[in-house]
Amino acid sequence: MPSVIRIKNLPKKKLATNTKEPVFVVTSSGCWECISHGLKNGYANIFGGGHRFMWSLWNKKEIPDGMVVRHKCDNSKCCNPHHLEIGTQYDNVQDAVKRGRRNPARGSQLPQFGKIARNARPVIQLTMDGEFVSKHPNGYVDGFSASKIHSTCKGKQSQHKGYKWVYEEDYIIGGNNSCK
Ligand SMILES: [Zn+2]
Repeated sequence: MPSVIRIKNLPKKKLATNTKEPVFVVTSSGCWECISHGLKNGYANIFGGGHRFMWSLWNKKEIPDGMVVRHKCDNSKCCNPHHLEIGTQYDNVQDAVKRGRRNPARGSQLPQFGKIARNARPVIQLTMDGEFVSKHPNGYVDGFSASKIHSTCKGKQSQHKGYKWVYEEDYIIGGNNSCK
């Protein structure tokens, strides 16, 4: 009989949107797999991502903007806070690449793989006048939203937090570097 873990006394804010109490079974490898909620994109569908929810609950803080919750155990269904760690999107790509090398089918099947891989491209931060500020090899910049940086690079928005952003491959030294 596997042991079962129930999460009681959820914060009131959380209860307002989902009153179902998360229940997990503990697998032989110590992973907590959710049995009370279904899966969404391969993750327990507790507020859209059981692993993110559990990391946040356990660490008593929100996940910092642009950061991801990674599985040390390589089991995307797992919500055991001891198997989770915070990381950057770049770290997650490295994980996915390593997994891909070990097992190509599995790596390419990761639902977030394509999105994260594109977002891990090096970006250049520019002033609104197009002057170079800094380069960020992972596509992640502390204090900024990675998705907004990349939508600026793709020309979907004109700036993010008062800066222009371009992909390194699109950056022209001395050029006008207007976003594509
Ligand atoms: Zn686990």
